[in-house]
Amino acid sequence: DQERHSIWLLDRRLKEIGRRVLVLSNKGGVGKSTVTYNVAATLAMRGLQVGVLDADLSGPTLPLLAGVEGARMRAGEGGLVPVEPAAGLRLVSSGFFLQDQDDPIMWRDAYKFEFLTRLLADVAWGRLDLLLVDMPPGTGGELIGLNELLGRVDGAVVVTTPQRAALADGRKAIAACREAGIPVIGVVENMSGRLFGSGGGELVAGSTGVPFLGRIPLDETIAALSDAGVAPAVAEPFSSGGRALAEVGRRL
Ligand code: ADP
Repeated sequence: DQERHSIWLLDRRLKEIGRRVLVLSNKGGVGKSTVTYNVAATLAMRGLQVGVLDADLSGPTLPLLAGVEGARMRAGEGGLVPVEPAAGLRLVSSGFFLQDQDDPIMWRDAYKFEFLTRLLADVAWGRLDLLLVDMPPGTGGELIGLNELLGRVDGAVVVTTPQRAALADGRKAIAACREAGIPVIGVVENMSGRLFGSGGGELVAGSTGVPFLGRIPLDETIAALSDAGVAPAVAEPFSSGGRALAEVGRRL
């Protein structure tokens, strides 16, 4: 039946995928998608084959960050073909299925999981060195679901903001990974600077014993380029924001 076929297809597709890394945070709006996209763009530019799965089904932002809003995934011979905003960079997002970018996606969790299962069974990624998954905010069912779906997750990157209020969230995200048996690669502190302070990410890393992967400033260049669909890590690698984002990519 349909479900058995999906699982068989999924197994075959997963064989072509090398490292699988989740990018997560316990809250929305902390820059999880920005970090994911810039890391992916940095590594693709360095010659890796990188896939990005936008698992934030209700709030897909990757199409905007990659400057491919309104693009569609077409059906090729081997399956659904990811959108390729740059050489070696392949994106899959629920945003590529929307008629109108403002259409809301209001699905039950069970349906989201079914959608992701079918999507992953249908997508012809081709051979990937790395699959980055931009997780939905929160560290609940999706974490367990994705872990199950991928069969093996090699690690997670936790994104936090510097404020004290974010410390508990960061620690929770790390505890959730450990609970799910996913190794934590490290913590990234985003939006660091005069407005929100700095140091929170490093505290989270230190107190939980995981590596600190870097501090990304709250930066006008990051905000403006991201809105324009350009990756600062690639387009402005010598600006403070672009350099910090690229550095996280190198540390992955
Ligand atoms: P999340 O995926 O956690 O919901 P996003 O990556 O979508 O967060 O970022 C939320 C908003 O903040 C976006 O408009 C993005 O451009 C902006 N942003 C993220 N990080 C920075 C930063 N370091 N400096 C300036 N703006 C940022």
